[in-house]
Amino acid sequence: MQIVQYKNTNWLKAYSLAWKFLDLVYPPECVHCGKIGFRCCPVCWEQRSLYDQKICQICGKPLGQNSVCADCLPASSPLEKVRSAGEYDGVLRDFILSLKYQRNIGLAELILPDLMHVLTNTCFQFELLIPVPLNKFRQRERGYNQVTTWGKLLSNGLDIPILSTGLKRERNTASQVTLSVEERLENVCDAFSANSEMIAGKNILLLDDVITTGATLTECARTLKQAGAKHISALTIARSSIKKGNDKGGMYVEKS
Ligand SMILES: [Zn+2]
Ligand SMILES: [Zn+2]
Repeated sequence: MQIVQYKNTNWLKAYSLAWKFLDLVYPPECVHCGKIGFRCCPVCWEQRSLYDQKICQICGKPLGQNSVCADCLPASSPLEKVRSAGEYDGVLRDFILSLKYQRNIGLAELILPDLMHVLTNTCFQFELLIPVPLNKFRQRERGYNQVTTWGKLLSNGLDIPILSTGLKRERNTASQVTLSVEERLENVCDAFSANSEMIAGKNILLLDDVITTGATLTECARTLKQAGAKHISALTIARSSIKKGNDKGGMYVEKS
């Protein structure tokens, strides 16, 4: 088992202070209730729905017991394990959307303790962090990859490198929102390429905001494996479930 150690490095302290200073000058609003003076106020942050240990020990799906889910029994996935801090709804949903679409980058550090909690509870093997890349158009339009913003903080605290060029998106994929599980897999098939020189023989932890069906993370892992990576697992902030006959409640919907 790999013991994960996280340090509040001087760089992280300085980073945090810089945002606190900026927040004094331009007071932010709570992403959930709008209260002035907080990026997410303590009352709202307490309400985020985090997972306990009653999850599938492979894919991280909440099960109500500590076991392996039916979907994971045939062990054919290139992903060894997936873990998420909590459910994609309420506060965590607002957190993710604000980080992603409103350049609320100072918000990112709030999630670090939750991610660390997941990492220390999970036996992950990794020596390299790789964020799921955006396509070039999105990256240019947004100016940043929101996954890299918190990935860099995690990398600094863990003293484990992050390689934002480890994966590249080769083509633009359609939005996954209205697609079924099978369609999602087809949609992302061969969408990525990996930098084999930098990842060969490495144990990798993939990072993303949200996992829904796992199609994107699975395709990323397959690409990395083909390029010679050893073990691949994934960590996301949240997990969104596709509910049957659904109103998209709790589902990961990209704002246009
Ligand atoms: Zn609030
Ligand atoms: Zn499972």
